[in-house]
Amino acid sequence: MSEKTASETASGSPENAGAGASLIDGKAFAKNLRQRTADEVRAFHEKHGVTPGLAVVLVGNDPASEVYVRNKALETHRVGMRSFMHMLPETTSEASLLHLIERLNEDPEIHGILVQLPLPKHIDPFCVTNAIAPNKDVDGLGEVNAGRLMTGLPGIIPCTPLGCLMLLKSELGDLRGLNATVIGASNLVGKPMALLLLNEGCTVSICHIDTVDPAAMSRTADILVVATGKRGLVKKDWVKPGATVIDVGITRIPTEGGKTRLVGDVDFDEVAPIAGRITPVPGGVGPMTIACLLRNTLKAARMSVGDKACKESGDKNWLPY
Ligand code: NAD
Repeated sequence: MSEKTASETASGSPENAGAGASLIDGKAFAKNLRQRTADEVRAFHEKHGVTPGLAVVLVGNDPASEVYVRNKALETHRVGMRSFMHMLPETTSEASLLHLIERLNEDPEIHGILVQLPLPKHIDPFCVTNAIAPNKDVDGLGEVNAGRLMTGLPGIIPCTPLGCLMLLKSELGDLRGLNATVIGASNLVGKPMALLLLNEGCTVSICHIDTVDPAAMSRTADILVVATGKRGLVKKDWVKPGATVIDVGITRIPTEGGKTRLVGDVDFDEVAPIAGRITPVPGGVGPMTIACLLRNTLKAARMSVGDKACKESGDKNWLPY
């Protein structure tokens, strides 16, 4: 039995309910995290003579993916790491992509490898993700890291759920005993998020497209994480008053004047007045993803020089797995 009940915590507390949610500022959190990473990259280099290196592989020329990949390279440089971009044509065969990954696996200057998804249809994403050496799998999507998360062993955690967990722990502290509902069950976000919350001692429910009454499951949650890609899915009657709501969803919608804007999976205007805390879109979870990718790359570099450096980093709070 946990020492703390949900009703005693900030997220479930009646005094928070109805007062209007406080915003969880992922942008500011991510900025601090990137700064801390830059400081640690410098110290790591001074101590070990190693500069962490991240290889990003993009196959094809999807404009949105190209923007993501270039941003990743820019942010990698900004924290003092080395960035290696591999932009391959759409027609690249699975065999030649696997050959490149093999070379990157063996390259001592590369500590993290990320293959931008989605891949063209003729390439099997599972085969490619699993070809990445587990210690360089900075997206944490390969079988080894997924299995480690499943069994509660140390490993590399997928960036977006890791970012959500960081925000939750910084807002709520100890999560033990809280009820958490995750809406969305993808390998990229929903499943690892649910496992992270379970490992933190939450009682976790997972909803997906076939869940009969996701609203009822959501209403039990002190922590509600939504990652479906269904714009505005979560309405006010889905949310327990005072709950902490993390909106992972991103949908780009057209606005007047031919412009576009990003919206989340939560109907912010309806939910913010009753939630205790809520992430905005944009400016919530989004900025955390790249900041966590950089964290994972530094972690992979630390692992490459031996576990001792990992332990010495004192990064117990954010990289406990
Ligand atoms: P996905 O399509 O792989 O999975 C969506 C999941 O939501 C599935 O499990 C599906 O069953 C469930 N779902 C769909 N409609 C539902 C409904 N009506 N009710 C309940 N469950 C439903 O998507 P994903 O890769 O997990 O991404 C989800 C969203 O998160 C997308 O909008 C994506 O753009 C966004 N995302 C954001 C970041 C970030 O950095 N902020 C990172 C990754 C994904």
